[in-house]
Amino acid sequence: MSGTIEVIEPATEAVMAELPRAGAEEVDAAVARAKAAFPAWRDVAPGDRASLLHRLAEALEERSGDLATLEARNAGKPIGDARGEIGMVVETFRYYAGAPERLLGKTIPVAGGVDMTFREPLGVVAMIVPWNFPLTIASWKVAPALAAGNVVVLKPAELTPLSALELERIALEAGLPEGVLNVVAGPGSVCGRQLVEHPDVAKVAFTGSTEVGRGIAAGAAETIKRVTLELGGKSANLVFADADLEAAAAAAPGAVFGNAGQDCCARSRILVERSVLDEFMAALAPVVEAIAVGDPLDEATQMGPLISAGQREAVAAYVPDDAPVAIRGDVPEGEGYWYPPTVLAPVANDDRAAREEIFGPVACVIPFSGEAEAIALANDTIYGLSGSVWSGDGGRALRVARALETGVISINSNTSVRVSTPFGGFKQSGVGRELGPDALDHYTEVKNVYYATGED
Ligand code: NAD
Repeated sequence: MSGTIEVIEPATEAVMAELPRAGAEEVDAAVARAKAAFPAWRDVAPGDRASLLHRLAEALEERSGDLATLEARNAGKPIGDARGEIGMVVETFRYYAGAPERLLGKTIPVAGGVDMTFREPLGVVAMIVPWNFPLTIASWKVAPALAAGNVVVLKPAELTPLSALELERIALEAGLPEGVLNVVAGPGSVCGRQLVEHPDVAKVAFTGSTEVGRGIAAGAAETIKRVTLELGGKSANLVFADADLEAAAAAAPGAVFGNAGQDCCARSRILVERSVLDEFMAALAPVVEAIAVGDPLDEATQMGPLISAGQREAVAAYVPDDAPVAIRGDVPEGEGYWYPPTVLAPVANDDRAAREEIFGPVACVIPFSGEAEAIALANDTIYGLSGSVWSGDGGRALRVARALETGVISINSNTSVRVSTPFGGFKQSGVGRELGPDALDHYTEVKNVYYATGED
């Protein structure tokens, strides 16, 4: 143990909890507990493992009110959003409770015998998660990993460790065996690194910045660990002149200012066809100006504070005095890491604000002329996580969706994430997929068994 973690409430800047800060020793102990629990957990009958995951989902649902309040306070997110996120956590455990009995293999025609494949668990899986959607992102990893028979060591972000620690407690109460799910709350540079280098860890599932993800991929190479990386984004929201402009303008702010812009899927580049730029901006302004920024626990709040003073400073650096601020919302005065919803327009795609992930409530509006330029601009980024296409022409919408180098696209909508569909990035937005049926592939190895039935 090395000192304590002071957990800060970003809307008030007050300390809401103090807890011991884990170090390398605690990581080693958690990995050892997980390793010891693995053989028995792997051998739990599929139906019984499913029942335990259903019980965990039930227990989380019973506690969902408290968990939502905890997450709203610690991450500074509106209480309505926090309720939705905890609802998704419950749904994620329910969805993967169906998996233990559906981890199907294949039989493959061969000479002289029978050939079959099995999906085997990996063993100890380390999970390193960020502060923007603390319990939701943890559940996307924990649920499929446990369903496939793995054991888990979960490291939450130091800024938001509380909901993960609750999950550990609730899992034990729901009947998960000791050692199957272990949480270590400590710094990434110590605990995260120790997990990445640990010889008894089979896989690292990471969500966070592209910069840290790069180091994790390099560190994991030493012991040939499996990695899933869910990294940064700079996603494009393409609005064509033939779109329902009112609907596109009404939806665009939510897609970038949700979670105060601290969302890897944020559509922070709004690409608008030049011929309708003025019309679009006129429809966008009142929506942005009406965003209710304030106390996360107030039901009317639509946007909370940023996570920390450091984050606010980093975001503000993208909006210097001479920035082309076209629209700006309001923020409360006084304590709290507030930053107003801000739209920069027009912006060139090679401006720093349009190239780098700001991870705050700042959107860039970038004009384009025609489909080919729209696609070229959207793809001119190192990232490829999400994106949207708004068009009244179904053929064009699908054509553009297929041409975009990005993992998750929506047409005439800005939603990216569903429990039952795969989520993840192209290019430097990551490796692997979470959620849906695909996640299970990333928490299992394929084993091939040949059984000779007669003479070869
Ligand atoms: P971060 O990369 O700073 O930290 C993420 C986690 O990694 C934390 O738990 C941290 O303690 C740990 N960590 C830090 N240094 C480490 C090291 N050297 N070794 C091992 N672990 C280490 O990210 P953040 O600031 O917490 O989160 C914001 C970033 O996360 C943004 O870039 C965002 O786009 C990304 N994100 C991606 C997704 C996705 O699914 N693609 C989802 C949410 C957030």
